[in-house]
Amino acid sequence: MNPEKNRFTRHLVGAGENTVPLAGLAIPEVFTAEEVTSPAVELLYPEPERHGAGGVECGICSDPDEKFVWANDRWRISTADSPRSVFFVNLVPREHYVNMSDLPTPMAEEQGRLLALMERALLAMEGAGRVHTHYWGDGAEHHHMWQIVRPEGFVQGRGVSLAVWLKLLPAMDAEDWESVKGDFAKALDSAAKT
Ligand SMILES: [Zn+2]
Repeated sequence: MNPEKNRFTRHLVGAGENTVPLAGLAIPEVFTAEEVTSPAVELLYPEPERHGAGGVECGICSDPDEKFVWANDRWRISTADSPRSVFFVNLVPREHYVNMSDLPTPMAEEQGRLLALMERALLAMEGAGRVHTHYWGDGAEHHHMWQIVRPEGFVQGRGVSLAVWLKLLPAMDAEDWESVKGDFAKALDSAAKT
């Protein structure tokens, strides 16, 4: 790949450090400095392999259903093995699809329905403010959709910053984590059957 011939990168070639006021970014609630300096741009070809590339040693494929919060014939829903600061779930197809656009149409439609049901189950829990749905795919190759609960009142976590807060805040109590997980699975189970 020649970055100078790539419409998405030609403006980035040779871009050095850049200092901008943090107020102009989406995350001033997280970092209190007045400005931030980005590193010089580095483009890497080929990109590093993602976890489970080609379905080889893919943990999402090989984990048994018991490790998931919920499962049906085509989809499974996971969360972290141990409590994190913010509750989140990942919707994954049982088979190793890479991109959302690789899903057969009936599965793509079912994904939309499941995401809506998942959001409903999460929002029904007292204390859940918003549910943020994300699709990045830069870490694991196996297609996965995120839903992250922004606690009610935690307005500092609005928008993209919640994903940063997730790594900065203290973890939920194990008991609370498990009870939220259980309530989510129960609510989804009854909703998915209707
Ligand atoms: Zn996989």
